[in-house]
Amino acid sequence: MSDLQKYQMLIGGEWVDASDGQTFESMNPYTGENWASFPRGTADDADRAVQAARKAFNSGDWANMTATQRGHLLRKLGDLIAAKAEDLAATEVRDNGKLIAEMGLQLKYVPQWYYYFGGLADKIEGAVTPIDKPDHFHYTRHEPLGVVCAITPWNSPLLLAGWKLAPALAAGNTVILKPSEFTSASSVEFARLFEEAGFPPGVVNVVTGYGHEIGAALTEHPGVDKITFTGGSETGRRVYQTGASQFKRVSLELGGKSPNIVFDDCDMDNAVKGAISGIFAATGQTCIAGSRLLVQESIHDEFVDKLVALAKTAKMGDPMLMDTQVGPVTTVPQYEKILSYLDVAKGEGAEVRLGGGKADAGKYFVQPTVFTGVNNKMRIAQEEVFGPVLSVIPFKDDEEAIEVGNDVIYGLAAGVWTQSMRRAFTMSAKLRAGSVWVNTYRAVSYMAPFGGYKQSGLGRESGQESIKEFMQTKSVWMSYAEDTPNPFIMR
Ligand code: NAD
Repeated sequence: MSDLQKYQMLIGGEWVDASDGQTFESMNPYTGENWASFPRGTADDADRAVQAARKAFNSGDWANMTATQRGHLLRKLGDLIAAKAEDLAATEVRDNGKLIAEMGLQLKYVPQWYYYFGGLADKIEGAVTPIDKPDHFHYTRHEPLGVVCAITPWNSPLLLAGWKLAPALAAGNTVILKPSEFTSASSVEFARLFEEAGFPPGVVNVVTGYGHEIGAALTEHPGVDKITFTGGSETGRRVYQTGASQFKRVSLELGGKSPNIVFDDCDMDNAVKGAISGIFAATGQTCIAGSRLLVQESIHDEFVDKLVALAKTAKMGDPMLMDTQVGPVTTVPQYEKILSYLDVAKGEGAEVRLGGGKADAGKYFVQPTVFTGVNNKMRIAQEEVFGPVLSVIPFKDDEEAIEVGNDVIYGLAAGVWTQSMRRAFTMSAKLRAGSVWVNTYRAVSYMAPFGGYKQSGLGRESGQESIKEFMQTKSVWMSYAEDTPNPFIMR
């Protein structure tokens, strides 16, 4: 196994192995071969990282830096990511199986989070309050929280790290990033850029290892002030409970079962493309997948025919080729989970209109699958599959579309395809989801708040308001009264 690429962790500005020397390996899901090894971080490593982050937060260059200087560093980091975009994209494709066609573009876009929050760093202003006490002056300060633990999933490691790190650092916190054990390579390569950008040691630490080991140790560590987590609902629940036991700040970006709703007055060709991008892009491995396609009864058959005809043309295979459209499933457990849901749907009586099984395009491939005859009570309509599996559900009118659209525990996103302005506004207001796309799907931006309603999460990422998730407000009172009045009475 000497040909494995060997990675280390970044703690306190030093590249280190796990405290006990243990490692784990990462697989290329296109070939099924292990290609890299990483330190299997321990509770001791979690402690080392927290100590380093705490030290950098409390004193030294970072603690004394102005917000403007922090902004400069973030913008420099953005430039370095842009310069390294191609290499980082190639690593992600190898480790994760994401398409080079998508990753090339995504990594050119990731710097925008660092530019945007770098610019915002010195624009977070407190207020002077027209306070109602004579001889008193009152103002507010927005201060960083301290040590932030950022935990990311395997599906978009560097994009999602940016959503967390850019605002956390702009606000003045220090950070420990723990990527998924399935896709750690890009985050560790990204960690090299912090030193080059001029971040002092300990401000950003990147640790690797299993969720139930170093991940749990970080969330349980009393030195962590805030956890920002993206991942599955079950893990999110555990992380939230752990955080609650110490009253830590916790924000959660969790799963989804988003409705993509097609009305009979839509532009049908665009809506077909929107349905495809909602479920087959990124092999359906996105939290915002439009995995429930609600189609108005009057156009149901025609729409499904067109959808299946286009989906059939999807080119599967090597994710490093620019014309590949559907890549492998990233992890073996995920591959097995998707296949088991195909059986669940068939067992519930859903009809396979396309796909429905393994695909022979590389090691871990599943056919783009379309199920019709699904009703919203079925498990295939209620549970997150996180793969290229679409459930088509017919509906009669606007009222039913809203009712069925909202009838899941999740509320991450929704799509609406209509040419009616009335419908567009009404549906946008009535769908209980953190993002609603009308005549588009899967659009995200550093400027646009993103997050979940209901069990899809807590808190928002991106957009101006998200920086406050990494800050706390202090009330400062000053008296210029000559005499301190009766001390037994509240001021
Ligand atoms: P996961 O919950 O299995 O793992 C996420 C991260 O949590 C990993 O880094 C993992 O190591 C860590 N972890 C696992 N157990 C832990 C524990 N006990 N304590 C602390 N950390 C622990 O999720 P996944 O399979 O990597 O990702 C897929 C899920 O992520 C899907 O449900 C998807 O919907 C969700 N997701 C959500 C968003 C969003 O923004 N809402 C974005 C992407 C993915």
